[in-house]
Amino acid sequence: MSDERLGFETRAIHSGQKPDPRTGAVIVPIYATSTYAQDGVGGLREGGYEYSRTANPTRTALEECLASLEGTRHALAFASGMAATDVALRTLCRPGDHVVIPNDAYGGTFRLIDKVLAQWGVEHTPVDLSNVDSVRAAIRPTTKVIWCETPTNPLLGIADIPALAALAREHGAKFVVDNTFATPYLQSPADLGADIVLHSTTKYLGGHSDVVGGALLTSDSELNERFDFLRNGAGAVPGPFDAYLTLRGVKTLAVRMERHCDNAERVVEALRGHEKVTHVYYPGLAEHPGHEVAAKQMRRFGGMVSFTCKGGVDEALRVAAGTKLFILGESLGGVESLIEHPGKMTHASTAGSMLQVPDDLVRLSVGIEDGTDLVADLLNALG
Ligand SMILES: *Cc1c(COP(=O)(O)O)cnc(C)c1O
Repeated sequence: MSDERLGFETRAIHSGQKPDPRTGAVIVPIYATSTYAQDGVGGLREGGYEYSRTANPTRTALEECLASLEGTRHALAFASGMAATDVALRTLCRPGDHVVIPNDAYGGTFRLIDKVLAQWGVEHTPVDLSNVDSVRAAIRPTTKVIWCETPTNPLLGIADIPALAALAREHGAKFVVDNTFATPYLQSPADLGADIVLHSTTKYLGGHSDVVGGALLTSDSELNERFDFLRNGAGAVPGPFDAYLTLRGVKTLAVRMERHCDNAERVVEALRGHEKVTHVYYPGLAEHPGHEVAAKQMRRFGGMVSFTCKGGVDEALRVAAGTKLFILGESLGGVESLIEHPGKMTHASTAGSMLQVPDDLVRLSVGIEDGTDLVADLLNALG
């Protein structure tokens, strides 16, 4: 991208988003059109648009902005994070190939690999990604992908991105980093050696819990073309209104993330040492086993916090249902704070598998409300 010397906040607001040349509209229009007039057969106008499954100008603006923020040459927007995941895995793997995945992978990612791609003969091994040796031990001659989330969901584990990138390169596998939790504001996986960066833009990038979307980013032009081919072939594209909403959210990503981090730190401080809390999971804590690695590869430590309850599963369920400001719900990364019980909600599908989570665990997506109100709400729910 030509804007690479500009600061992050500037690129979030301007990259891919020049005022409309015809009217001067400052905001990229919502191009609600499925098709485009041609000046003679094959005579496409500026941008080469012919059909909106293939490309749409509102979507192009979002893609240019996302590529600029992640520091990659290319970005492709999708109808959801799972659609992006599906295209990445089906492009990179054939029957008989093998994928290394985190042993606390996002539940939907695990389900797609374990329940859908497995039927097409794609094999997988879940491992603790914070342990480079166990990742190395899981690699087979058929390993095509090492799939990484850092921080992980919901236990906020940290993987060493440069170390895993080097390991993948050594074994000829592609290294994919799902950067949904950290966002490009806090962490730049492509700069650290990732071949491919993936987002659920539903979360912090959109940031307002009003749109579902995904993105796949890479600087490998050949790979990007293959992703684009399958996206166009299978059709999991976002509509122009979704692209507009996501782009609107991205403009404020930097200021939102600073506030998410400020509030998360205050919540962590309040939970730590609370008599009803046994453990707080947050990579910003010096005692977190991944703290040193996180401090090297993240600008700050994000807005996600998990904790376990002394009173076990019953207490965890009571706390999750007992807040007034933290809304009981799945998802994360919006301006409003959310609380959930992973064992019975987001991670219910992992029950009985290697990815099962502790049943006394509560997960918070700390929003950007007044931090004092958030802390008071949690303390009140804990009782
Ligand atoms: C939500 C999420 C996804 C899936 O994205 P959708 O937009 O819900 O399809 C993938 N990875 C992570 C880390 C997520 O939080």
